[in-house]
Order: sequence, then C-alpha cells, then structure tokens
Amino acid sequence: MESMIPDGELPYEDLPLAQLAEMANKLIEKGHLVFMKFTCEKCGARLTFEEPNTFYKEGSCDQCGHVTEIKHGGFMVAFVHRNFRSNYMRVK
Ligand SMILES: [Zn+2]
Repeated sequence: MESMIPDGELPYEDLPLAQLAEMANKLIEKGHLVFMKFTCEKCGARLTFEEPNTFYKEGSCDQCGHVTEIKHGGFMVAFVHRNFRSNYMRVK
C-alpha cells in the first residue's frame, strides 16, 4: 500500500487505538494531559485535537476538510503538576 504520509513524518508513531488508549491512560493516571493526534488519510496532514484526555473516532482535517475515521493515532503529552487530578480518557 502506498503511503500518503509526507517525508518528515514518522508513520510508526501511529499506533492502534487500543494500544494508544492503554498508554494514554497510564500517563493520565500520573496526572499528565494527553492530546490525541492523527494523520489525515487524504492529504497526510498531522492533526492534534485541542481537548485533552479525549480520543476521537473520527476527525476532520484543517487542511482539506476530509473526515478521517481514526484507526491509528498518536498523542502529545503535556506534563502538569503531579497533584493535578485529571479524568480518564474519554472517547467521542
Ligand atoms: Zn487532509
């Protein structure tokens, strides 16, 4: 299968959602904020959701407007105060 991910992106950062959720929940347990990322299946843009600790089943692209059904994704972690109590990941 031909990849539409442009050079410079690292496709292996994208993991199956089940694995991603497990990793994310461990980080959230420690009080970190996790922002889900995904790659637009049409144009290859790398997108990050603004709402923390929330995983989405689909996302629309800022660049081309295409709605991607998210099967693989990554996340960005924001390190917060360790006494900060965040909720478990939600799925939208
Ligand atoms: Zn796109």
